[in-house]
Amino acid sequence: MKPNYFFFLILFTMSFLTGMAQVKDNKPSLGKFALAIHGGSGNIDKMKLSVEEQKAYRAVLDSALKVGYEVLKTGGSSLLAVEKVIMVLEDSPLFNAGKGSVLCNDGTIEMDAAIMNGKTLDVGAVAGVRRIKNPISAAKLILSKSKSVFLYGSGAEDFVVQQGMELVDTSYFFTEQRRRQLERVKLEEGGMQLDHDSGDYGKKTNETDEKFGTVGCVALDQAGNLAAGTSTGGLVNKKYHRIGDSPLIGAGTYAENGVCAVSCTGKGEDFIKHVVAYDIASRIKYGHLSLQAAVSQTIQLKLKSSKGRGGCIAIDKNGNIVFNFTTSGMFRGSVDVNGKFHTAIYR
Ligand code: ASP
Repeated sequence: MKPNYFFFLILFTMSFLTGMAQVKDNKPSLGKFALAIHGGSGNIDKMKLSVEEQKAYRAVLDSALKVGYEVLKTGGSSLLAVEKVIMVLEDSPLFNAGKGSVLCNDGTIEMDAAIMNGKTLDVGAVAGVRRIKNPISAAKLILSKSKSVFLYGSGAEDFVVQQGMELVDTSYFFTEQRRRQLERVKLEEGGMQLDHDSGDYGKKTNETDEKFGTVGCVALDQAGNLAAGTSTGGLVNKKYHRIGDSPLIGAGTYAENGVCAVSCTGKGEDFIKHVVAYDIASRIKYGHLSLQAAVSQTIQLKLKSSKGRGGCIAIDKNGNIVFNFTTSGMFRGSVDVNGKFHTAIYR
């Protein structure tokens, strides 16, 4: 072989090998990913949601799913996807979280949120915050930067400000619809009530027209990590700084790698007493049930048998997704492991 040919042969072999290495490096991870969201459950009366309203709800659910899908598709973590998805829902006045949260008895707004990383079991939660635009981001900040895991009220706000987060004026969260809702609840019912509930919370519940507007997200990323988050304004006309299940790890929110991630919505008191999210995880972890069976036993047997009302979304390590609720509907959506988008409201 002439020296020139020999030189080109070596050059060609080297560039071929380098090219192969690059292809290998750039090759996307083959891990599957999926996510599910909810925007609250309840006895949603079909007649009361116009076609336009249904479209509006579904449009927000769709954009939240798209945001989560992009994060996960590009190799982002499930924790980040959960935060970004919930931010979209918090920013929409349609749901009872962030902007458009329900009002307390004194006309103020107090919001709760929690997020959990299934890989590390790290958690972050806030309750009773009034000036944090995205409570889910505050929860994530606490997860990553605080020695504590759960901060309340102005203390939580002081902490996020120290971490560089800006607060917004309380007026940002208010909507006219929520003001009228509080007036109606006070006049007609007089009791504490769930979002869009025409019945009296705690006394005489009209269960035919009750709807919970909390938001939540569960996700599995390409690295096999699970995460869950929930955000809410709580109950209409709530008093005494009442806190529900949403920010309580194990009650309204839970994630553990290899087991499942869960986010709940419904009457918080029922979910707290049944420790719903962790109850589901325990049935899988210790009882070796499938996700479907575990969720069904906790929601349809345990919760329902004590008249608990609401539902949850859950995802397992294989990306299986389950929606389950004791009410007639739940605003929900998912992107499954095949990349198929889906949204629904009624049963
Ligand atoms: N679970 C929430 C709470 O009790 C309410 C809801 O889901 O809408 O605060």
